[in-house]
Amino acid sequence: MNSDAASDERRMATLSGLAASRGFASGPVFVHRRDDGDFAVQDAVVPEGRIPAELERYRDARAQARRQIDDLVARMGDGSAASVFANHLAILEDPLLVSQVEDTIRSGPYAAETAIRRVVGGFREMFGRMEDPYLRERERDIEDVERRFLRILHGREETSFSSIKSPVIIVADDLAPSETVALPRELVLGIATDHGSATSHVALLSRALGIPAVVGLGDVSLRVHPGDRVLLDGSNGTVTVNPDTATAADFRRLVRRAKELTAILDEDRQLPGAMKDGTPLKIVANIQPGVPFGSLAAFGAQGVGLYRTEYLWLGAGREPSEEEQFGAYSEAVKAALPSLGPEARITFRCLDIGGDKIMRGAKAVEANPFLGNRSVRWLLGHPDAFRTQLRAILRASAFGKAAVMYPMIATRTELRRCNEELQRAMDELRGKGQDFDPNIMRGVMIETPAAAICADQLAPEVDFFSIGTNDLVQYTLAADRGNEQVAYLSHPSDPAVVRLVDTTCRLSREGGIYTCVCGESAADPVMAVLWVGMGVKVLSMAASCIPAVKKVLRTVTSAEAQALAEEVRTACSSCSAEEIYARCRDFILSKMPDFEQMRSFFTAV
Ligand code: PEP
Ligand code: MG
Repeated sequence: MNSDAASDERRMATLSGLAASRGFASGPVFVHRRDDGDFAVQDAVVPEGRIPAELERYRDARAQARRQIDDLVARMGDGSAASVFANHLAILEDPLLVSQVEDTIRSGPYAAETAIRRVVGGFREMFGRMEDPYLRERERDIEDVERRFLRILHGREETSFSSIKSPVIIVADDLAPSETVALPRELVLGIATDHGSATSHVALLSRALGIPAVVGLGDVSLRVHPGDRVLLDGSNGTVTVNPDTATAADFRRLVRRAKELTAILDEDRQLPGAMKDGTPLKIVANIQPGVPFGSLAAFGAQGVGLYRTEYLWLGAGREPSEEEQFGAYSEAVKAALPSLGPEARITFRCLDIGGDKIMRGAKAVEANPFLGNRSVRWLLGHPDAFRTQLRAILRASAFGKAAVMYPMIATRTELRRCNEELQRAMDELRGKGQDFDPNIMRGVMIETPAAAICADQLAPEVDFFSIGTNDLVQYTLAADRGNEQVAYLSHPSDPAVVRLVDTTCRLSREGGIYTCVCGESAADPVMAVLWVGMGVKVLSMAASCIPAVKKVLRTVTSAEAQALAEEVRTACSSCSAEEIYARCRDFILSKMPDFEQMRSFFTAV
């Protein structure tokens, strides 16, 4: 080994983080560390006489912040990135927050920045302590708004990346949403951060901007120096600092291979879902408010099988009005459907609040929230809120094909009560002369073992079933889906779960309706093949997973999938979840030897 190679070896380091936005990048780094010291705010008490002036400084800063955020929203167009900044506006104008800041200025009396740090900082810390990663992420929004205020009051410019003149990989301790969108897109090859999770804003925004990203790398921003080179693999979640020649060559080979596999996936992504023998399947997308609708068609989605409406509540931290809901649902129908083909439909799932999805400010008063008053149980206890949502969904159905779906149903009585509320909502709209589709499709989620076992009772009441395997697994195995310690039990290929899916498919066939799977297992080609063999007709998943699932299903005939399902039915008497999974994976490998490599590139977030 020559001395150069030896020094290369010494300095090379490969770090593992979380795959946040897939894709590959290699290039020099641009190191960005957020300097909190810039905004050190001493508790500044001011004389009584300055109160009006400090109130005015705060109000002017709020107006300026509003203008800046409005500009960002306009720049981002519709979609998830814009919705991040819509949340910032909501924080900025939050009446509680505004009155508390003004009261604090008066009671100190304090300078505007001191009051902001005390009040807004207090909210930020409260959210930072929350366990739910979605809510914890709100801390980042509040911090971003706080920093915007302080920047304005200190007369500073927004974070400037203007010194970037040639393509770089941004390596940062963390990036606030406003910093992420301020990046010069054409010069940013990739993003690597110390902090963040797959659901953090930097992950969401880098996916929306199409920039490969790895987050949660620990201390990458301290390990690199300006001018260092890195290799970033956003599919596998690794970053290699100062690669040696051999590692760089391996990386180039990997990128070439990924390109070849992308080309293979591209062959089918715009074709309708189908098996090798031509048996049609529908491959549709799971979305929530804020997902960029344009990306659905690009990934080959044939509709939306699950629109998670609860994110409207979680995002706003309160119950949205009928008009707000109608605005969001009708926008989805109008903006998404035209590009997804004439058969496309959007399935709105009614509010699935409770369990781990707790609204801001709501108190968790139940000892067992997952077994408590969640989803339709809550809705049926709040019929006004339920009908408000149903009216908003029905009104959106006047603009294109829609379906309404009830989550967490356990009994036929509950389902009938939901349908009665739907009927009432229709009568209310008729009374007001408002348009809607009176034949809107109705579906029920199969998420409880009770619903699966007695699916024959449910089938006559609806047009379709949609199996939520995420919850079905947790309720069947009695294993909290968010608890790492019992994750070893949570397999959709567990024989108990497989039997419940099989039962649901059989009972839906006998009842003359079809079954969809919209839990995460639909996005795993290994499980998707088994579900299709059991009789599932529609698979709904994160849009980015669609091309790989489509590709794999096109290599298998309907008869082969059914034979696999038959084999697995027998295996359920003697095999574990792992053994059943291995059998299905081996079957796919026999059809598609490249499957594992393709999966490593394409089935990450
Ligand atoms: C499910 O439980 O599988 C499902 C799709 O619903 P959620 O993940 O939103 O609970
Ligand atoms: Mg669920």
